[in-house]
Amino acid sequence: MAVAAPIQLRRFASSNPATGEVLREFDCASAEDVNVAVERARAAQISWAKTPVAVRIRMLRSFQRALHSRKDEVAALISAEAGKPQVEALLTEVMVILDAAGFCMREAKRFMRPQKVAHGNPIMKAKKAYLTRIPYGVMAIVSPWNYPFSIPASEVMAALVTGNAVVLKPSEFTPLCALKLKELFDATGLPSDLFQVVIGDGQTGAALTQAKIDKIIFTGSVATGKRIAQSAAARLIPVVLELGGKDPMIVLEDTDLEVATSAAIWGAFMNAGQTCLSVERCYVHRSIFDPFVARCLEKAKALHIGPGSDPQTDVGPLISQQQLRIVESQLNDAVAQGAQVLLGGRRLPELGANFYTPTILTGIDHSMKLMREETFGPLLPIIPFENNDEAVQMANDPDFGLAAIVWTRDRKAGEAIAARLHAGTVMVNDVITCFGISEAPHGGVKQSGIGRTHGRQGLEEMVWSKYVDADLLHGIPKVWWYGYGGNFASQMGGFIDLLFSRNLGMRLRGGIKALGSFRRKGRL
Ligand code: NAD
Repeated sequence: MAVAAPIQLRRFASSNPATGEVLREFDCASAEDVNVAVERARAAQISWAKTPVAVRIRMLRSFQRALHSRKDEVAALISAEAGKPQVEALLTEVMVILDAAGFCMREAKRFMRPQKVAHGNPIMKAKKAYLTRIPYGVMAIVSPWNYPFSIPASEVMAALVTGNAVVLKPSEFTPLCALKLKELFDATGLPSDLFQVVIGDGQTGAALTQAKIDKIIFTGSVATGKRIAQSAAARLIPVVLELGGKDPMIVLEDTDLEVATSAAIWGAFMNAGQTCLSVERCYVHRSIFDPFVARCLEKAKALHIGPGSDPQTDVGPLISQQQLRIVESQLNDAVAQGAQVLLGGRRLPELGANFYTPTILTGIDHSMKLMREETFGPLLPIIPFENNDEAVQMANDPDFGLAAIVWTRDRKAGEAIAARLHAGTVMVNDVITCFGISEAPHGGVKQSGIGRTHGRQGLEEMVWSKYVDADLLHGIPKVWWYGYGGNFASQMGGFIDLLFSRNLGMRLRGGIKALGSFRRKGRL
């Protein structure tokens, strides 16, 4: 008799990227664990969908209050697990979610209310029509490590308030942040099965996307996004893909150098450059190129690099050795092709294995890997341009389109360039902040993804819409039903002339012809 092979548990540790300290070890959830979680979520969702929106909003308010009162504890955990300075965790994760909770609370009632659909065609006027929004059921959320709290939290809130259940698979680098999110929701009295977290690696994520879920909201790399899209296609379920970016910042000739250089270094080095909306390429008008580079160098040299727990720290470690090697390989490729490293370009082993210097490069061209692939690390390539057309052409060159930035004192000129950039978001005179604006939809074009999170469009992704059409003249058969033949085609042609002809006489004749269709014989 054949002996069943023992089930291999995959085990991993969540650790502090600054110190290497193991925070906790986990077993990866198996496909069976995932299926059980999805089944439970489905059972819980049935009554949740019938729960009044006001009750769901109350749950969010209670979550918001709990998060507010525990903001420092949550920020400290994010900093320990993801490496970022604690103040960044407070601003870009906790504050963003407190505000997003407020947005969902304000918006949900209006959003879930049936929406009247007016008809233009006069023969469709005798119909009362409206759209209702129906929650999908069980949403699978698969999230990355770089914003381990705010990315899943904003999606979980939007899913729950619209009546869905959620199964979240957080990154294997940051499971503790997801468990903290779950703890905060459980404390609101939300039935535990409505929001579940399955911990594990990519295989656990794959098991979730292959389970009987109704929609996938994925945030992560392009490579994984393509696999997820294939999974979704196999079951023909919808998917939102929030993928990588290669965001350009264009600095026009008239720019305020002091402000724009501060923006460039914050945009490039915040969260050690591991932000999907990071400034990954900076194009500067030739006439201000040298002073721009010089000020960036001065400001970048003043940054304090260290562990996120130190209040003085501006730039923390990268998340992992793997991430560090990607940054190094892009830098080496650029240098081999003639790039000059003006600052940084090296590891900082004296601080810890994952630390890397904020790095500024010039002498760049678009054939370098650094300009074609997402870096997701603290590299700031600065490239001169001669005129605005050239800047737009270079900005639109790579196959990404998450966000873009234009810097100028002339807001109108900035907006004119914004209109020409291929990106889901364009900011004029600011960087990255759009992620913290709860009303702003977030998402990209090209390889940066499909669909949107955040804002009203983010709520829209959580529901399917049902069009309901109730006829007010229920006792009258429709004129366009059977009983064709005779003059019917000519009568209907007249009706079309009545509606669409630009000639008044033709419209009148058409109307008279059409009247005959009501009296025609042989209608069924
Ligand atoms: P990743 O693609 O490696 O992993 C993301 C998540 O997918 C993780 O939870 C991982 O375990 C899971 N996963 C891996 N393989 C899977 C599979 N086959 N099936 C299902 N799930 C699987 O990305 P990452 O390294 O965690 O995050 C960095 C990337 O995320 C960057 O490219 C960054 O630009 C992108 N990102 C995008 C946005 C955005 O809003 N557009 C925001 C943050 C991060």
